[in-house]
Order: sequence, then structure tokens, then C-alpha cells
Amino acid sequence: MSQVPWISVSEARSAASTGKSVELRGWLRTRRDSKGGFSFLEINDGSCLGNLQVVAPGELSNYESVVKNLSVGCSLIVTGEIKASEGQGQATEMLATSVQMIGDADPQTYPLQKKRHTFEKLREWAHLRPRTNTFGAVTRVRNRISFSTHQFFQEEGFLYIHTPIITASDCEGAGQMFRVTTLPAENPPRDPQGKVDFSKDFFGRSAYLTVSGQLEGEIFATACGKIYTFGPTFRAENSNTSRHLAEFWMIEPEAAFFDLNDNMALAERYVKRILKDVLNDCAEDMQFFDERVEPGLIAALKVVLDKPFERISYTEAISILEKSGEKFDYPVSWGSDLQAEHERYLTEKHVQGPVILYNYPAAIKSFYMRMNEDGKTVAAMDVLVPRVGEIVGGSQREERLDRLLARMKELGLSEQDYWWYLDLRRFGSVPHSGFGLGLERIIQFVTGMQNIRDVIPFPRYPGSAEF
Ligand code: ATP
Ligand code: MN
Repeated sequence: MSQVPWISVSEARSAASTGKSVELRGWLRTRRDSKGGFSFLEINDGSCLGNLQVVAPGELSNYESVVKNLSVGCSLIVTGEIKASEGQGQATEMLATSVQMIGDADPQTYPLQKKRHTFEKLREWAHLRPRTNTFGAVTRVRNRISFSTHQFFQEEGFLYIHTPIITASDCEGAGQMFRVTTLPAENPPRDPQGKVDFSKDFFGRSAYLTVSGQLEGEIFATACGKIYTFGPTFRAENSNTSRHLAEFWMIEPEAAFFDLNDNMALAERYVKRILKDVLNDCAEDMQFFDERVEPGLIAALKVVLDKPFERISYTEAISILEKSGEKFDYPVSWGSDLQAEHERYLTEKHVQGPVILYNYPAAIKSFYMRMNEDGKTVAAMDVLVPRVGEIVGGSQREERLDRLLARMKELGLSEQDYWWYLDLRRFGSVPHSGFGLGLERIIQFVTGMQNIRDVIPFPRYPGSAEF
């Protein structure tokens, strides 16, 4: 064991470390042998985007036998003194007094050689792609957003609660569900009509992976006031798009005594908090995304931070689209759901920034959304952003028992299935609101990454559940 402290590459790169003798542990990104009889080793340990340059002098006892054979991807422990760097683009470097190779990486077979790989190719190596600059940066930004989420809601007085992952309620309309069953795929028990008898299943009924924690979230909001969930969410939609996953992470705040305006304001504060934190604390990673992934990204995000999100009612949005003169693949008319192309027009061309659409036709939204005075629209809201489209979907919930029952009847929903949800309206009902924000969608927005499959460690989508 060495006598000197082990520090991260991130710490070692700071000028404050100059003059210190330290140990670094990480992986070799490149090695360059100089004619002068020494080598440059670029070491990365995931603590930041940049590497630390280590100068390994020829005097090291293992210089010829080990240092000159180190290959890209091998793991290392090096000790030495941090010095001010004479090279450009870095504050510090290390002059090594010892270089120890821990685990080799065969250059013939290690996939991540210097050559650039496409994101598609890297998806096949999801076990190695965190070692690339892009995925390292995505990983750190994802971490920062997760942390900001907890900080933001905790500071706003929201309680973090855990809603179930296996559920029997289907948050009607949210999406296709994955069934959870222990019944044998071959010869399952059948009822007299010949249908599979799920009353014989593990839970004595049909059960699924959750598509949203909202309904359970409402239980806690109507007891604890302000709550949020942050967990995995599953949708079995067969949608092969760059914005949909079968397993994604959703943050769902729910607050008693919040109306639609409070809800929109909360969503705006939350999104802005995330942008502010990432721009401040992931500056080097964001610079990388700006240079390599989405030119102009940082400037665009700063504009978003400074401007209020524009609020446009669904009805106004339809008339803007009708008057736009654009040729859309899907026609627009009052009552139809907005397609991605319409959302993009509104946010990218019309507003050129985030927009909150609200008061949608009841017919295209879920049963639990609060009916407006006009009897046609509900107090729903979506936050749309350039490039990505919808990142937030939410609403004020229907708190009036008679209205909710009437709506459920219209839609043929069974009162029995929702007995506990209805109880929340029977006992101490309050106006309340909430929304869901897709973690991967906001990461796409913040990093400029085009495909949602490249902002989650292990993407699940139709035909793919490797790793
Ligand atoms: P979309 O119209 O984009 O398919 P949605 O309206 O079905 O989304 P909601 O049920 O409102 O989505 O879910 C709330 C949020 O969860 C969305 O605003 C989005 O950020 C995120 N989200 C929804 N579906 C997915 C998915 N399949 N993969 C990743 N994120 C998703
Ligand atoms: Mn939605």
C-alpha cells in the first residue's frame, strides 16, 4: 500500500493539487511514447470528462517491461507528484514515480480503440460504452439531474414516496402494460369459457408493471399534501421512436390544493432548476455536448433559463397551426390529438422555446382530469420543448365525486375497480394537481442527444433487452 492519498482525476486536474504527491486509479485512454525515452499516459477514472496526463519517465524500473506495453483500456494505479502543466489545455499533469498495471486489455480484442464508433454500434457494447467520452458525460449529467430532482422537491417541501412497481391499477390510458405472471406459459389454468384464469395467478388477479404512480401518488398527496415519486415506469407500446423506451424513469409530483396554474408554475421552476444545476455543475460535460453533439446547445439552454415558458391553450394552438400555412402529414382540427410534427412546429417555429399547452379536449385525455366550466375541455397541461417535444404531461385532477363518477360511466370504467380512488373524493376531497416528467426526455433536451436509447444505461425497447 502506498503512503500517498488516492485522489480522483477530477481533483488532480485542479490547480489546487499542484505540488502534492498522490495516487491515481483509473483506465488508460492513450499512450504516447516520446523519442526522449519517456511516455505520456492519459488516464481517466470517470470522475470527469478530461484525462490527466501522466508523464512516465524511462527511469521507472518497469518502463521497458510494462509501461511501453500498456494498451488502451487497461487499468492502472500510478503515483507521483502533480505539477503545473507546460502543455496546453490542461492545468496540471503528473510526473510518475510508479506505474502499476492492474488489468490488461488485449489490443486485438478490446472493442474501444481510438477509432470513433457510431452510437448504434456502441449500443451493442452497453457494457463498455460508459468508458467513452459521450457516455461518461451522459452518465454524469443523468446523475446531476437525479440529484437536482431530489434537491428541488425537498426544498419545496415535497415528500419522496415509493409507489408500487407491480400494480393492478392501470392508470387508464397511460399506455400498454406488461403483464406480471407466474402462470405457466404452456397450459395455464382456464375458466369455463376457456380464457386464461388469472384468479389462479400469484396475486389472485391480473397484475402488471406500472405505467405511472399517479393514482397511488394521489393517495399520499391527499394525506401528506405535497409528494413526489421518482422511479421506473414501463410501457409495452410497440413504438420504435427516438423518444420512447419500454422502461424509463419518471418523476411524478402530486400536490393537494394546487390548481392547474400552480402545477404549470411548479413544472417550470423544476425544469429551470435542472438546467441551472447542469450548466453550473457539469460545465465541462456541457461544453463537450455543445462542441460534439448539438452546436449552440449551451446558448439555447441559457435562453430557456431566462425566458418565461409560454402558455398557450389547446384551442389557441389549433388556430395557430391552422393559420401556419405549414403542410403537416396529419391534418389539424379542434378535437384531434397533436402529433409530434405539430408539437415541433409550436415549440421550434412559433415560440422558439418551451411552451406549455393547457385545456385539452376531454375526449383525448384521461378520465381523472378535471372538467372545465365549458364542459368540453379538461385542466390538462403538457410542457413541450424544442427537439424533444413533450417532456411533461400533467393535469388538475377531478376532485368532485359526482363529476368523476359521471365521467367514468361515460367511458365504461367500473366503479368497483377504482373503489379506493373514489374514496379519496368521498372523504376530505381537495383540489389537487400533478404531472409526470420523463427523466430520459429531459436528459435528451439538456444534452442534445438525439436518441433516447443513448441516455439510459441499459435501454429496453421492442426486440431488445440485452444486458
Ligand atoms: P408521448 O405522447 O410522448 O408518447 P405520453 O403522453 O404517452 O407521451 P405521459 O403518459 O403523459 O406520456 O407520461 C408523462 C411523461 O413521461 C411524458 O411527458 C414523457 O416525458 C415521459 N414518457 C412517456 N412515455 C415515455 C416512453 N415510452 N419513454 C420515455 N419517456 C416517456
Ligand atoms: Mn402526455
